[in-house]
Formats: sequence, structure tokens, C-alpha cells
Amino acid sequence: MSELQTNLDFLYSSLREIRLILHANRIISFDLSTICPPKARENQGETSNYLSSLAFKLIKDPKFFQSSEYCYNHLNELKPMEQELIKSIHRDYLRTKNITPEFQDEINRVQSEAYIHWLEAKAKSDFSLFAPYLAKIIELEKKKISLLDNKDAIPYNNLIDLYERGMSERDYDSFFTSMKNYLTSKLPMVTKKSQKVRIDFLSREVPIHLQEEFSHFLLETIGFDFERGAISTTEHPFTESMAVDDNRITTHYFLNNCISNMFSVIHEGGHAIFGQCQPHESYEYYIENSMSMGMHESVSRFFENVIGRSRDFIHYIYPHFQKIFQGIFTDVSEEELYEAINYVSPTLIRTEADEFTYTLHIVIRYELEKKIIDDEVNVNDLPKMWNDLYEKYLGVRPSNDTEGILQDVHWTSGFGYFPCYALGNAFNTMYFEKMKKEINVGELVRIGNFKPIVEWMTNNVFKKANYLDSKTWIEDITGEKFSAEPFINYLDKKYI
Ligand SMILES: [Zn+2]
Repeated sequence: MSELQTNLDFLYSSLREIRLILHANRIISFDLSTICPPKARENQGETSNYLSSLAFKLIKDPKFFQSSEYCYNHLNELKPMEQELIKSIHRDYLRTKNITPEFQDEINRVQSEAYIHWLEAKAKSDFSLFAPYLAKIIELEKKKISLLDNKDAIPYNNLIDLYERGMSERDYDSFFTSMKNYLTSKLPMVTKKSQKVRIDFLSREVPIHLQEEFSHFLLETIGFDFERGAISTTEHPFTESMAVDDNRITTHYFLNNCISNMFSVIHEGGHAIFGQCQPHESYEYYIENSMSMGMHESVSRFFENVIGRSRDFIHYIYPHFQKIFQGIFTDVSEEELYEAINYVSPTLIRTEADEFTYTLHIVIRYELEKKIIDDEVNVNDLPKMWNDLYEKYLGVRPSNDTEGILQDVHWTSGFGYFPCYALGNAFNTMYFEKMKKEINVGELVRIGNFKPIVEWMTNNVFKKANYLDSKTWIEDITGEKFSAEPFINYLDKKYI
């Protein structure tokens, strides 16, 4: 056997072991967020930490590094998919090889502490309780950047790259500036238009068992495979890709807000369909779930917004909506339902934002993150800076820290993650343009036939997502360079 093959085989056997450990850990983590009884959580946590440390040891094994490096130096002798695997190992593991288990432990410990203090600070609406922990997180993020191999001279670029490979501050500056200018200039007019919309019925009480039936109907409609996926409930909805035939989602049912569940289910269902339709070779070469967060959000938001909030979709679901909800909404017309779910109003809370104003919430976090990493802010000044930006861009000012800077948990685990939330909308409106040229999307949605849509997504959107960086990926799908323009055109057509 050649030396290359020996090294490759060693990597495959380690990756197989890592995959099995992660699989078990994902099941535990899903259990922890869903049905695990409170007193069992500590036990579950202990098992999960033990499994994580096993996987970490395998990744940090010097032999794993040597074999990866050997294969990386012989890249041209490998099959195309093997090359993608080795490149991804090189990116994910070798780049962080100077991050020692001790430093990683320190990061985990500080993040857990920060999380606990964030919860307390949020409950008491007092940023000063969280500030010292946020300062520690910032310090560790900077230390992490200094330890990375092949680092970029612009510090924030290194964090961006960890979540959205290939993207940079320069790409984001141009995207977010275009979005900000467009959205802030049109917002007063769009909000005014929305004031005429009827939304009184959105808070009607809908029994949970009827909402469950509606969830199943929606998931079946968009093409979620119940033989290879499941749905459960949690405080905050999420999707977990457990294994090749196991993509699970969760939702949250509110008695007086059935629309919240409707869009959670469509959104998470979109993430799960991405997992269920991954090409088999991704599993064969251990690169499953290597797609970026922006790509994943593009798919979930495609189902949620581009399709789920469209007139055609509402036309298809309207009779089912009336039938399943058994007379609760008989006085609501199809057009009234469509208008209500597209109601635009600037709010303080990102997760409750409408499709139009959502990106401005991300713009604010992006601008602050950049300043934080570039050492341009004092942590204690952040709440005021946050409030000023909300007032400037959205015209609303938080009256306390809970509805302001403490609303999101994300900064307890570092920086660079937020911008990805906004990329999804830009990507999906780009490939939606292309899709419309090839299949009659509107008509298919109107009759509830999602099969050709999911097939198109599988062949175009999902196919290379596991190994291309997102700029290359979107250009490969659409033939166009990444830009804010298609998203702006989409919003303009829908809301102006
Ligand atoms: Zn999502």
C-alpha cells in the first residue's frame, strides 16, 4: 500500500470514529433541549462533555495532523472528492492547530460563565452584570485570532472566515452599506403602507393540537421526509442534522400566536430539507454539514420568506388553514392573511422582526462587532451605542437593556456569526431569480407541488454547498457575483 493510502486510511478511520462520537453527542444534545427531565441534565451534560473530549483528542492527535499534512502535500494525487475532504480538514483543523486543549477549555469555561451572567443580566435588565464577562470573551477572541495559522492582517476577517469562508469585511461593508441605505430610505413609506393592514386576528387563541396538525401539513407540503426526520418542541426552535437519515426540527407553540409556529416550522423545515437532500458522496467523504451558515440560512429563509410569505403559498394553504383551524378565522380573507403575515413595523427585537426590517438588526450588530474587534469601543459604552443605532436606523429606542443589547445570546460565544444571518436573504433571492427562469415556481407553489422545487434546489443549491465557499457557490449557481441588488429588487417589488 502506498504511503499516501496509508495516511488516507488513517484519516478515514479517525473521521469515522469522530462521526460516531458526534452522532451520540447530537442525540444527547437534542434530548437535553427537548424531553430530558431537569434532574437528569447534569448526568447528560457529563456524558456529553466526556464524548466531546474523546472527539477532541482524536482531532488533536499528532498522527492526525501528520496524516492530514501528508495528504495536503500530495493533494494532486487524490481523487476530486478526496481533495475536497483534505482541504476541509486543512481548513478546519490545521488552521486551529495552535489552539491547545487547555485554551479551548478556558474558552468553554468563560463562555459558560458568560452565559449564566447574561441570563441574570437579561432578567434584571442590567448590562453592567454582563459587561466584565463580555470583556473576557472579547479578550479570548483576540487571543484566538492571534493563535490561528495563516491569519489575515485585518483581525475581524479571521472571525468572519471561521463562519463564512471566503467572505471579508470588504464584502460585508459593501453589502451592508447598500442594504442600510436602501432600507432606511424606504422604511417610513413601507411602515405607513402597513398601518392600513388588519392584524387583530393574529393573536387569536388556537388550541395546540390544531397547531400540531397544521405543522404536519406544512412540513408535508414543503417536502420534509417524516421517514428521515422528526419534530419536537423547545423554547427556541432549531434543527439538528444527526445523521444521513435523521434530520430533526423543533418548534414552539404559543396559544395566542399560531403564526409564530407556522413560520418556525417552515424555517426549520427548510434547514432539515437541506440536510435530507445532501448528495450521498458528502457522507461518503465525511464532508456532510460543511456548508456555511449563510448557505443554510439562505435555504431556511427561502422556504420561510420567499415561498412561505408569498401570495402563491398563501393561496395554496388558505383552504387548509381554514379547515384545520375549524372556524377560528372564518372572517379572515386570503388577502387579509397574506397582508398580515407581511406586516412591516420597526421593532426592538430581532427575532420578532419582519422580512423588511430584519437586515437592519444585523447591520447594527455588524457595525458594533467591527468596532469591538478593532478596539474602538469601551465595553461599558456599548448599551448607549446600541440604542443610538436603533434610533438612527429603525426609529425606535430601547428603554432598557433587556430589549436592547442583552436580547441576543450570541455574544456569549464570540463574534463573526451575526452577519451570516443577513447573507441568507441575499443568496436566496439570487438563486430564486435563476430558478424562476427554469421552472414555473409560482404556479407550482400555487398548487402545492414542491417536488420540482426541492429537486431544483438539490441539483443546483445543495449539490456543491459542502465544498465551495459561499461566494464561489453563489456564482456557480447563478453565474452572478454576490451582491445586494437582487435582494433589494425583491424587497422593492414586494413592498414598494
Ligand atoms: Zn435558521
